[in-house]
Amino acid sequence: MILPKSNRLTSTQLAEIAQIVSEFGCSLQPIVGAVRTIYAIVGDERDELMMNRLEGLEYVDRIDRIQSPFKLMDRRSDLATHRIAIGGVTLGEQLLVIAGQCTIDPKNPGYFYETAAAVKEQGAHVIRGGVWKPRTNPYSFQGDTKSLDILMEAHRRTGLPVDAEVMDERQLANALAAGVHMLQVGARNALNYSLLSAIGRAIADRQTVVLLKRGLHMGALNEFISAAEYVVSFGNPNVILCPRGTAPAPDGYRCYPDECITPLLKEKTWAPVVVDPSHSVGKAAYVPACALAAVAYGADGLCIEAHVNPGGGIGDDPKQALTPAGLADTIRQAQVLWALRHPPRRSAEA
Ligand code: PEP
Ligand code: MN
Repeated sequence: MILPKSNRLTSTQLAEIAQIVSEFGCSLQPIVGAVRTIYAIVGDERDELMMNRLEGLEYVDRIDRIQSPFKLMDRRSDLATHRIAIGGVTLGEQLLVIAGQCTIDPKNPGYFYETAAAVKEQGAHVIRGGVWKPRTNPYSFQGDTKSLDILMEAHRRTGLPVDAEVMDERQLANALAAGVHMLQVGARNALNYSLLSAIGRAIADRQTVVLLKRGLHMGALNEFISAAEYVVSFGNPNVILCPRGTAPAPDGYRCYPDECITPLLKEKTWAPVVVDPSHSVGKAAYVPACALAAVAYGADGLCIEAHVNPGGGIGDDPKQALTPAGLADTIRQAQVLWALRHPPRRSAEA
């Protein structure tokens, strides 16, 4: 990873560096942070001669040689100073709340508009809504592209950014063309490297944020973080990690709650962690406790399914969506806990 002395390289400097790395079979990938651009060397960057030539350039501050399977996502990476912001929240400075229906019902758009208004009212910063749904049963409702218009109308009505899952490149293109602000990669696609790369490529020059769920059977944390590296390696560092429970589940829960991995992730990566308690426990009655546990473990945010009338919803909503009142209580308690974990810094004089 190349860190220039200035905030970014000029085109002449970039061309000179690109020429050097190409002589050693590598290429260059700029990663545009909020303040500074850094330059990842893609390929085998262990060649001493290449490193020496790069280090010798007077406009290069230093070269980071992070020996990590995920050199961009690594806590020691220069990207660690990057802050992701969405819905008026900078992650790490305030608890981010993403809330809304599991699934948008194209036959009942009114529900989604009411849910969107209600979750905004209760303090959510981003509205989630499933347009295309990964369903275990091939005969279950698979989602409908028409719901994309409903999602974007909810954005216009509330002014809040929206989050939707994409499962293939056509959905990705549709979502980006419509202006979806947060792309969700679901548990079933968490290791779909061609989708992760396609997303990374498509959002390289945008501010789009990716919410990367943890795979249902995903074991090692390095695997989870490496999946994020796929997206970030194309140049947009806005990736949030989302534990959402794994298999097998204890009797009674949908999945094995895994919010406890939050501190372990934070030891390895700078990426913010937003926990999804809804899919983790899979039942509305258990969601609030799981949400609070996530905050206790250090989560930067929560992604919670909510519906104005869960019983009238589709997909996961009848069983696991919180009502607006339930969401309000959960957000309030989570914010109290978050504040306990993040006491305001005392000024030097105090
Ligand atoms: C969802 O968010 O509705 C969903 C299907 O999530 P996951 O991919 O975590 O199962
Ligand atoms: Mn769901």
